Amino acid sequence: MHLERRVLITGGAGFLGSHLAERLLGEGCQVLCVDNFFTGTRRNIEHLIGHSGFELLRHDIAHPLYVEVDEIYNLACPASPVHYQRDPVQTTKTSVLGAINMLGLAKRLNARILQASTSEVYGDPHVHPQAEDYWGNVNPIGPRSCYDEGKRCAETLFFDYWRQHELQVKVARIFNTYGPRTHPNDGRVVSSFIVQALLNRDITVHGSGEQTRSFCYVDDMIDGLIKLMESPAEVTGPINLGNPAEFTILELARLVIELVGSRSRIVHRPLPEDDPRQRRPQVDRAREQLGWQATVPLREGVKRTIPYFESLVSQGLVQRVI
Ligand code: NAD
Ligand code: UDP
Ligand code: UDP
Repeated sequence: MHLERRVLITGGAGFLGSHLAERLLGEGCQVLCVDNFFTGTRRNIEHLIGHSGFELLRHDIAHPLYVEVDEIYNLACPASPVHYQRDPVQTTKTSVLGAINMLGLAKRLNARILQASTSEVYGDPHVHPQAEDYWGNVNPIGPRSCYDEGKRCAETLFFDYWRQHELQVKVARIFNTYGPRTHPNDGRVVSSFIVQALLNRDITVHGSGEQTRSFCYVDDMIDGLIKLMESPAEVTGPINLGNPAEFTILELARLVIELVGSRSRIVHRPLPEDDPRQRRPQVDRAREQLGWQATVPLREGVKRTIPYFESLVSQGLVQRVI
């Protein structure tokens, strides 16, 4: 008989997955990390290897998986445009076939399952801020569609397994999250700007930089995901998780330059196709149903993130930014 909760984290060697694994091990859970290392690395979890509660399995969740666990956090999926556009067909397979396999696994085990969905299901939103009952404005055939539509279809599958098989599902719509262990070369804006600033290279602002995002520090996000998993069965979501403080990309660039103490200049590059103009979560549902809200301001979170990238730069692990 097992006493500790056995938790499966797909995408456990990635940015969010590795922080979640660390937190759950600290709470006494057994953690099975499943990852195909498409964007994750062993470096993110090497400090966990050897821990008696930790297991690592190299596996692609687009294929069936037979293991025995009590809870599933389904985080596997490349998350940045640069990565998810590298092999768009594989991105859709990961979201859709991966969701089917993980839901099938949860059904066989009667396990709770949480889906890492995304604010991208709102696309380039016509409603601001975005509440969970907004259906979104997503281009079904554009370069971002493999990710956006894959995640939307995964949500559909989660709610159909809930209605049809009474599975205990939890769907989190995660808004832009940053912190140590974001991939240094995946083009996500906070990490890219920090690395550019540390190397005193130009800070590449796309378009005018007037587009907005709302950035959540990783520790807050992990709290929110765990609170959602542990919430009563009737709390299925979808539920927005994010920090509602909204910044323009230019404001972020200036903040990073100031906090790094960098000589970098701001330069402008073309705005990518379908780049959303604004994004801010409405977080009332998370506050009411989970008693959760983000607590780390952007300035503080960026300060906590800089040392991680300083260490990568000083070890010669990052010489350039894409
Ligand atoms: P990440 O790229 O660091 O982690 C994703 C992990 O999934 C990687 O370790 C990768 O190797 C693994 N993976 C990808 N395809 C796989 C497959 N087919 N089988 C097994 N493993 C696979 O990204 P992240 O930021 O940690 O994102 C984690 C989850 O959260 C993703 O589902 C992402 O869509 C979602 N999300 C993240 C953010 C954010 O701002 N970080 C925002 C919204 C949603
Ligand atoms: N599946 C899995 N692990 C399990 C149980 C199921 O990977 O422990 C996969 C299986 O390959 C199946 C999918 O999950 O294709 C959906 O399972 P479900 O039971 O819903 O559907 P069915 O097997 O009836 O197609
Ligand atoms: N961005 C930028 N410079 C960069 C990387 C990104 O100006 O070097 C912009 C990007 O065009 C978008 C915002 O920053 O408007 C957030 O980009 P990210 O890829 O981090 O997240 P997403 O667009 O998926 O929200």
